[in-house]
Amino acid sequence: MLFYPPVKDTRIRFDTRTEFSLELKRRVDAYFRATGRSRGGGARMMVKTAIIFAWLFASYAGLLALGGSWVAVVVFGLSCGLATAGLGMAVQHDGGHLAYSEHRGVNRAAATVLDLLGASSYVWRVKHGVIHHTYTNIEGVDDDLDAAPFARMAPGQPHRRLHRFQHLYMWPLYGLLTAKWFLFDDFSNLARGRLGDHRIRRPRGADLAIFIAGKLAHFTWALLIPILVFGLGKGLVFYAALSIACGVTLSVVFQLAHCVEEAQFPTVAEAQAHTRDFAAHQLATTVDFARDNKLLSWYVGGLNFQAVHHLFPRVSHLHYPALAKIVEQTAAEFGVRYRATAKLWTALRSHYRWLRRMGSGEAVGLA
Ligand SMILES: [Zn+2]
Repeated sequence: MLFYPPVKDTRIRFDTRTEFSLELKRRVDAYFRATGRSRGGGARMMVKTAIIFAWLFASYAGLLALGGSWVAVVVFGLSCGLATAGLGMAVQHDGGHLAYSEHRGVNRAAATVLDLLGASSYVWRVKHGVIHHTYTNIEGVDDDLDAAPFARMAPGQPHRRLHRFQHLYMWPLYGLLTAKWFLFDDFSNLARGRLGDHRIRRPRGADLAIFIAGKLAHFTWALLIPILVFGLGKGLVFYAALSIACGVTLSVVFQLAHCVEEAQFPTVAEAQAHTRDFAAHQLATTVDFARDNKLLSWYVGGLNFQAVHHLFPRVSHLHYPALAKIVEQTAAEFGVRYRATAKLWTALRSHYRWLRRMGSGEAVGLA
């Protein structure tokens, strides 16, 4: 097991077998029986993966063929960054959750795509797969809420004067935060054996080999080759364009699901006060958005259906639109809140407003 108990007492009791959870599971099982579909992504995911990889390769080939100018370096850097984010959201995320395929080896391969993109899939399994997915939006435990000292994302976090402008400066900063994760956080987390308040064992054997090979591969294709071919300045600009495009996209897509006015942010003390209905907790802290936008859904790997994803993380994102209808209907019948914002723009505005409210020092939204 990768996962160790938290360093401080953040134990929270979740009930995963409430009537609501069991009914949801029963209806989703019935959906798969009735349609005869597998929970993995099948051939459609193979095609999708090939398309996004082709986008990345074409952008990189374009850089090598035409990257003599500053404009080309920036344009192909941005294109590589968007393709990289697409692979992270649509391929690696499903693979890391064992949802890409019915076959374990295929999931492992899809998950390892993250290492090629610069981040450790080993650390991700704890950071995202365990901590974020269990303690969603619980301030002080969910590492995704921690952008200290730059931002105050939740009411329980301390307020600084700097945060008054976070609704403006966090958007570009998101690009740097991902590069920080790739280049610094993975190493520091493993060196300290800590991820937030959780212990994390240092990787060994195959995990260690993948960690090192992934960091070297990313460093080689994203930084070293562009520098050797085009010189230090253009190489660094390419890397900056790539990581900013990737970072802003990944950060914003995840923020729109959790860090918005419609989501709740329980503190550890509140979460410990009583046993929490796990499914209801996930629906209270996660918001779907732009469910009718098919192109967006395709590109972000269904992460605009994160409420569904948090309830059924081991199901391919290709099923999310169908499962969202089941979740919405069942939640309505049980009186459990399920939120979805209609448009991408509405969700962006909600994140902007939430950052502004948190930046103003307001203590709101306690669950
Ligand atoms: Zn996830």
